[in-house]
Amino acid sequence: MTFFKKMKDKLTKQTDTVTEKFKSGLSKTRNNFSGRMNEIMARYRKVDEDFFEEIEEVLIGADVGFDTAIEVVSELKQEVKLRNISDPKDVEAVIVEKLARIYQGEEETEPTINLQKEGLTVILFVGVNGVGKTTTIGKMAHLYKTQGKKVVLAAGDTFRAGAIDQLEVWGERVGADVIKHGEGGDPAAVIFDAVQSAKAKGADILLCDTAGRLQNKVNLMNELEKVKRVIAREIPNAPHEVLLVLDATTGQNAFVQAKQFKEVTDVSGIVLTKLDGTAKGGIVIAIRNELKIPVKFIGLGEKMDDLQPFNAPEYVYGLFADFIDNNKDAAD
Ligand code: GDP
Ligand code: MG
Repeated sequence: MTFFKKMKDKLTKQTDTVTEKFKSGLSKTRNNFSGRMNEIMARYRKVDEDFFEEIEEVLIGADVGFDTAIEVVSELKQEVKLRNISDPKDVEAVIVEKLARIYQGEEETEPTINLQKEGLTVILFVGVNGVGKTTTIGKMAHLYKTQGKKVVLAAGDTFRAGAIDQLEVWGERVGADVIKHGEGGDPAAVIFDAVQSAKAKGADILLCDTAGRLQNKVNLMNELEKVKRVIAREIPNAPHEVLLVLDATTGQNAFVQAKQFKEVTDVSGIVLTKLDGTAKGGIVIAIRNELKIPVKFIGLGEKMDDLQPFNAPEYVYGLFADFIDNNKDAAD
């Protein structure tokens, strides 16, 4: 399996701590997937229609998306025929390879954040309540602070006082200024002040929190448009990123949210949070394959350093580590 060897080789360029983070953060998904696969492999003596049906169920259960699951299984059938595989145990390598290739995507390079070389980069965070916007802002502020950048946070979720306090706590924790108004204030006014302040301080990055209320699409659209207009008036071409935050544990619901947000605003990337808390890491495939929005960051816990830039080889390794380790030396 030269494919797995190549995959492993790609990892060595990364630091061990990154690999370890992906591996431990994705352990629930990995254990769930390999557990269910092993169980199927042990139960079937031959590769037949029922066998394929069960594989399809496991994939759908792992949130890879309905269309993708059907696609993988149909390719799998062809491959099994082509290679003349009759022992279910030999199918696993093919499945993992197929999934790994899809996770990898076409792109050789990983999606990045559109950071400006000079001047202020403005990043807007959108998403419904509870998905992890504020926490992600805190983690991302920490990430950029450790890279020596000057970071300012805008408390644009003025809907609840608790949201403003929460952002302030993160600001103190990571050492970033927080620009805020009172509860119930106009988010666009807060963000206007924050842009002014960040520019005056010569900050590198401004991270803007928002309240994601989807109850009324027209209101949300108007509110986001107003915020974006205010930013663009101060800095042409800004915001440089609009990141949609989605909670991986909500599965298909996250999918529906992504579709809805896509309709109200231009989303430039997705942050998928709480991947540590779910056994369904297939959601990354569904989002990439079926929504065509790049996943730029993933959340693997609640702590400051539990945010990772999305990296396909690391992710795939996190999902199938034991399998890849066992097969990397196998011959084709
Ligand atoms: P917001 O309403 O979108 O701003 O969401 P919050 O940032 O307040 O987060 C909601 C809850 O999710 C909090 O308890 C966070 O600690 C938790 N959370 C956020 N990201 C992650 C993650 O990657 N992993 C886990 N396990 N919890 C997370
Ligand atoms: Mg919040």
